[in-house]
Amino acid sequence: MSDCIFCKIIGGQIPSSKVFEDEMVYAFRDIEPMAPVHVLVVPKVHIPSADGVNTENSAYVARIFEAIPQIAAAEGLTNGYRVITNCGEDGCQTVKHLHFHILGGKKLPETMA
Ligand code: 5GP
Ligand code: ZN
Repeated sequence: MSDCIFCKIIGGQIPSSKVFEDEMVYAFRDIEPMAPVHVLVVPKVHIPSADGVNTENSAYVARIFEAIPQIAAAEGLTNGYRVITNCGEDGCQTVKHLHFHILGGKKLPETMA
C-alpha cells in the first residue's frame, strides 16, 4: 500500500534499524522503544491487522512466529520476553499494517489492560 509507513520501511523508502529479514518477514527497532529491546516484526505483504489474517496470508504469520525466537536469541532475551499485536481502535493500533512487538530486556509490568 503506497501510503503505509511499514510498507515504505520494507521497501526502503523510509530508513529503519533492521534486525532480521527473509523473503516473507522484516523486523526492525521501534522508533519509540518502550523497553530495552523493542522490535517490530512485520509481514512483507500489507495485512491491515490481526483481524485481516486468513487462509491466503496466514503463512506470513507462521513465518513471523518462526522468526521471533531467532530474533529474541539474537537480542539476548534469554530470560523471556513479550509478544504483542494491537488490533483496531479498541486495541489502540496506530499503524495499520500487521506488526508484532517484541518487548524485553527487563521485567515487564504484569498489567495488560
Ligand atoms: P501500534 O501502536 O500500532 O501497535 O504500534 C506502532 C509502533 O510503530 C509504535 O510503537 C511506534 O513507535 C512505531 N513506529 C511508528 N512509526 C515508526 C517509524 O517510522 N519507524 C519505526 N521504527 N517505528 C515506528
Ligand atoms: Zn503496509
